[in-house]
Amino acid sequence: MDKRWNLDALYTGFDSPEFAGDCKKLDAKNEEYENFANTLSKSSDILEILRKYVSLKSEITALTSRLLSFASLSFSTDTNNTKANSYIESVSVKQNRTSLSDVKFIKWLAASGFEPKTLRGTDIEDCIFHFEELITKGRHILDDQTEQIISNLKLVGSSSWMNLHNVLISSLTGKISTADGRIEIKPISQIRAMAYSEDAEMRKKAYESEIRAYRKVEKAAAACINAIKGESIILARMRGYSSVLEMVLTKNRMNKSIIDTMFSAIKEYLPCFRAYYKKKAKMLGLSGSLPFYDLFAPVTTKAQSNFTYEEAADFIVKKFATFSRKLSDFARNAFDSNWIDSEIRPGKVGGAFCENIFSISQSRILANFGGSYNDVTTIAHELGHAFHGHCLSKNLILNTSYPSPLAETASIFCETIINQAALKEADKETKLALLESEISSAGQVIVDIYSRYLFETALFKAREEAPLSPEQLSEEMTKAQIEAYGDGLDEQVLHPYLWLIKPHYYNPDWNFYNFPYAFGLLFAKGLYAKYTETGSSFTEKYEFLLSETGKRSVTDVAKIVDVDLNDINFWKNSLELIKEDITKFLDL
Ligand SMILES: [Zn+2]
Repeated sequence: MDKRWNLDALYTGFDSPEFAGDCKKLDAKNEEYENFANTLSKSSDILEILRKYVSLKSEITALTSRLLSFASLSFSTDTNNTKANSYIESVSVKQNRTSLSDVKFIKWLAASGFEPKTLRGTDIEDCIFHFEELITKGRHILDDQTEQIISNLKLVGSSSWMNLHNVLISSLTGKISTADGRIEIKPISQIRAMAYSEDAEMRKKAYESEIRAYRKVEKAAAACINAIKGESIILARMRGYSSVLEMVLTKNRMNKSIIDTMFSAIKEYLPCFRAYYKKKAKMLGLSGSLPFYDLFAPVTTKAQSNFTYEEAADFIVKKFATFSRKLSDFARNAFDSNWIDSEIRPGKVGGAFCENIFSISQSRILANFGGSYNDVTTIAHELGHAFHGHCLSKNLILNTSYPSPLAETASIFCETIINQAALKEADKETKLALLESEISSAGQVIVDIYSRYLFETALFKAREEAPLSPEQLSEEMTKAQIEAYGDGLDEQVLHPYLWLIKPHYYNPDWNFYNFPYAFGLLFAKGLYAKYTETGSSFTEKYEFLLSETGKRSVTDVAKIVDVDLNDINFWKNSLELIKEDITKFLDL
């Protein structure tokens, strides 16, 4: 078991004949695909055309992902690797080349009047959902010239506004006084990080400094957000969506009734979270309610347990076995076959991620393992993503991409297995720390996400009429926070400027980058609740569910485990699990 991953299953190097061969092959396939897309006609045999599309598109997707994965994985462990960097760029260019052909094919398919359900019983029956989705997409694509204008203007429109926001934030600094009375100027990211400090005075000072800093750029940031959201509104309308939210929901393969039901359930459980925030205020020795600057304050001594990498691997494999042998064997194999790069070393990117490489039915996980319990759950989380990939890999590569609400199902499920097992074994002190960290992050995903959803809904509604001033934006943000946090937070000390600092509001392709997270957490928890109810018979259904996430709507994926997403009780059951944790925490 190495602490560095082995990429030989992809390629032995950029200079290998296989790598060069696949680059050439991709070019040839791209050309073939272009010819195919340029010669589509109504008169031809549609089944033959669809077969050809499936075969060409599958080959191109497999080749692209294999080449791109090798380049980007090589780069992620060695960011000085210029060769890797230049291949990321050149393969991405090849990838972009196919998108024009994709659009031609999609428009041809949408105009053909073809009914994908008629593919039942054929050799490409498995692609019915894929074609249905393409047809829906096709209905929202405009004529070639308009699409061309839009993509050109987006570069100088929303993309430029996003860049401006990046520049504003990355160069923003705040003043903060040190313990010996000096004034220091620090980047805003450093000041924000002080929210996690053990020193109460420092947290308060950092918050005040942060708010002062935002005032310097609020007018410019408001201009950015108004432009970006304004563009989204125009584009959604032009493409025939009733709203930006509908556009996002379509992309996420779900309908609005699901999020309405989910948020109704969340609203009912807000008082539990508020009780936790009130308790936190007490634990910090405050007489009133919790000010925003103490939201992330540490209140327990961190779980100190130290794991070697080998111990972490054994721990994960053993705990996964309590759920299923298959999951446990899968994890063992990932460790033993060196799929995981866990070592901390210079030149490597921070954080953690998992990349599923369907062309070789394997995954690679990057982590920076320092030995804390948190590092163990991170690897378990990423192994969940890998297991999801493993279940999906039985499918055609065209049926392996899943929407963001389902992206965290397997990862959170694995994390839950580990956390539940750790809680059982922990002493009182550790239990308190584990619970606090669970509840605090659940609070972010449930309560804070709810406030962001409320804010973004209000923002789009107001932006339909006119641009919003910085004061209006801050007012909407505060209103949303009051509705979500209620008396859990001090109404006088909220964070009116989260609209300015959260980068996702400024990415034109990330509208409503919030509800999928609440969905993901509660869906995974709900599945875990089902598992504890039904026991080992659940595991097979669970694996089947994961394998189907690339070729069904979110509603139909849930139906596999007899879950009705429009039934509020499903969501309440998930929230009940968090409530139990909160109750345990309050009792301790
Ligand atoms: Zn994840």
